[in-house]
Amino acid sequence: MEDLLIVGGGAAGLMAAICAKEETPAASVVILEAGERVGKKLLSTGNGRCNLTNVGAEAKDYAPAQVEGIFAQMPPKSVMEKFTQMGLMLRVEDGGRVYPISDAASSVLDTLRLTAAHLGVVERVNFAAESLQRTKNGFVLTAKDGQRIEGKRLILTTGGQAASKFTGYRLAEQLGHSVTGLEPALLPLKTDVSSLKGLNGVRVKGAAALYNGRNLVHREEGEILFKDFGLSGIAVFNLSRHFARQKGKCEVEIDLLPNLTDAEAEEMLLARAKSLAWRDADGFFLGMFHKNIGINLLKSAGISGGRVGEIPKSTLQTLARQLKHWRVAVTGNMGRFANAQVTVGGVPLNEADGKTLESKKCKGLYLAGEVLDVDGPCGGYNLQWAWCSGAVAGKAAVRELPQSKIRQA
Ligand SMILES: Cc1cc2nc3c(=O)[nH]c(=O)nc-3n(C[C@H](O)[C@H](O)[C@H](O)COP(=O)(O)OP(=O)(O)OC[C@H]3O[C@@H](n4cnc5c(N)ncnc54)[C@H](O)[C@@H]3O)c2cc1C
Repeated sequence: MEDLLIVGGGAAGLMAAICAKEETPAASVVILEAGERVGKKLLSTGNGRCNLTNVGAEAKDYAPAQVEGIFAQMPPKSVMEKFTQMGLMLRVEDGGRVYPISDAASSVLDTLRLTAAHLGVVERVNFAAESLQRTKNGFVLTAKDGQRIEGKRLILTTGGQAASKFTGYRLAEQLGHSVTGLEPALLPLKTDVSSLKGLNGVRVKGAAALYNGRNLVHREEGEILFKDFGLSGIAVFNLSRHFARQKGKCEVEIDLLPNLTDAEAEEMLLARAKSLAWRDADGFFLGMFHKNIGINLLKSAGISGGRVGEIPKSTLQTLARQLKHWRVAVTGNMGRFANAQVTVGGVPLNEADGKTLESKKCKGLYLAGEVLDVDGPCGGYNLQWAWCSGAVAGKAAVRELPQSKIRQA
């Protein structure tokens, strides 16, 4: 019987294995991974560069926000120190995003794998865990093809459903846990496109706010990318996390001038119309926005032909309002889990201990990473959660093992 089984060789599982071995080197630690290799998803993170944490990440940035007890044990600074110790050189970019200096996600995975192997962690791939039972002395884990392994302690790090071929929610349920509804998040939103004509591929820096009826759900500043199906870009990705939790009809309100108040935007447009009165009306927004946005706005205001100086004041006021409050109805999210970066939902965090992540339903079982109902915004937050929760569970799981029962390495 192994001392510790870790089901799922992703970010959380690899970090859990390393921290468990560092905590108790004599413990036998085995990672069981359904895929042909561990850490495959890591390779596609951060557009292949792996945005592995964010220096500004705080517990309050996550939903649910009760991650403090775990987060505080390995905040971004400690994650960066850990990777640096393991030999990965890092760089902090805009918005506090942390990347490997190599700009290659593979170097993050290589660093983890080399360290794990050096510490004596055993990787068993092509083990698609299907059934999990608690026995008197520990756990029996059985794979789809009948392979079987026993362990005294077990950490479930099977991740979420986003861009994943395998999941482990059933395993958690088999040991008494519940699983909330699962929704894809950090993905584009499908919207009514009638007001987005001619904008496919145009990017703007602005603000996007999600409304459910009259209620403001969440507002994000950042990149908005217009698509033929709706809206994309980091700001919209971050709204999609909140859309995933809504019932009822939602709208996104785009603000193309987030640094100006409504009154300032109107004043600016009136002054612009005055100083550029000589221009052809269809060139009014040239030099201010992407050409196609200008065309779209002028069309929606019914302006065609004439000079800027001939645009009525009331139309300029309507345009100013549109610039600040461009509303589009959300009709869904794009592509469900295949296009998503994270899963909203999972095993409720309050079913695990707030300091060790040991299951409250089954002693000796621990949960970490995205299999838990915890998600954060784009920018390194989700991997931050995977590393810190994996580290906490890994250390706690072997700390609990009676020393006398540890198999000598
Ligand atoms: C395209 C993309 C880009 C992303 N970019 C970033 C980024 O730059 N920064 C960031 O912070 N986050 C990013 N994320 C999110 C981040 O990758 C995840 O939040 C993180 O990987 C979760 O870690 P995890 O260990 O919980 O799960 P995973 O990394 O998904 O690992 C779970 C592992 O468990 C295995 N598994 C599942 N079920 C079973 C089973 N039954 N038996 C055995 N093994 C099983 C899976 O095969 C997988 O290897 C991105 C996600 C995607 C999809």
